[in-house]
Amino acid sequence: MLGPVILAASRSDKMRRFVSAAPGTKQVVARFIAGETVNDVVPIVQDLAARGLEVTLDVVGEDITTVEQSYAARDAYLELIGRLKELGLGARAEMSVKLSMFGQSLDPEGPGSGHELALANVRPVVAAAAEIGTTVTLDAEDHTTLDSMFAIHEELRKDFPQTGCVIQAYLFRTEEDARRLAANGSRVRIVKGAYKEPAEVAIQDKPEIDKAYVRIMKILMEGEGYPMIGSHDPRLIAVGQELARRAGRKLDEYEFQMLFGIRSEEQNRLAAEGHRMRVYTAYGTDWYGYFMRRLAEKPANLLFFVRSILTK
Ligand code: FAD
Repeated sequence: MLGPVILAASRSDKMRRFVSAAPGTKQVVARFIAGETVNDVVPIVQDLAARGLEVTLDVVGEDITTVEQSYAARDAYLELIGRLKELGLGARAEMSVKLSMFGQSLDPEGPGSGHELALANVRPVVAAAAEIGTTVTLDAEDHTTLDSMFAIHEELRKDFPQTGCVIQAYLFRTEEDARRLAANGSRVRIVKGAYKEPAEVAIQDKPEIDKAYVRIMKILMEGEGYPMIGSHDPRLIAVGQELARRAGRKLDEYEFQMLFGIRSEEQNRLAAEGHRMRVYTAYGTDWYGYFMRRLAEKPANLLFFVRSILTK
């Protein structure tokens, strides 16, 4: 019940100011956000790599309001890729990006121009990633952004076929998207979906979302692409393993992904079994939206957060 309320708050500036200023917030944020700067995140990537884990790095931020911020987002990723190159971590770490942070919804030169701005900003990031032997995955945001995201994905794949994208099991449209992406050989992360979506476009019932997730995993596993199973749900992970086996996929022909700070033991277990296990590691200062979605996913996180505020 609390999830939708927290998700609504994740878009409120008033709540953003309140949560950011609350005593105790930093301590809870640190559980999910790996630090504020590239320098904070580098030792974490090195530690994850030493434990046999792969990484996808997210510089947090979304819903920007100026074109300058979209350039800053591009530059933050270019700086990150430069550091990964220096440290020889290119093979271990890919990047995840939110196109809203790259200017997708700004439309500075009329309707639709935000799409072009986001494409122009993300292209050099994808090219720089390719130069160090890695790639970029386009995160899925709310449903109104997805046609633009898939079009940018298709455009980038012409030069950089390894570019990935994310699909969300809760949306009615997703099985069709999965079929298209599985047929054209894309890297695709499947997740349940983290935004507040209306009943016209999304399944609202959790068990039904899980069933859709299984149907979509099956499409991806039987297709031509590279499935990335983004979930902490033990049942879905077990089903994913079974579907991969039935589809005759080898261990390097799919992967599991989880978020930094969530179910670390399970991350280690899957890696020890020989699975490719990638940890989505977010860092940066604009952590509010990302953090609130993590609170919405698990009521216990909210309780922990409220308690840490009250005891400060
Ligand atoms: P759930 O049923 O929510 O969780 C299963 C179990 O995992 C829970 O019982 C709990 O033990 C644990 N767990 C799950 N979430 C938390 C949490 N926040 N804190 C503590 N424990 C938790 N969503 C998008 O809409 N777009 C994206 O681009 C996107 N990218 C993602 C990338 C990765 C690698 C992952 C793992 C998730 C991503 N998500 C994205 C979020 C996703 O949509 C879900 O909201 C989130 O993964 C929770 O769903 P679940 O599959 O883990 O299952």
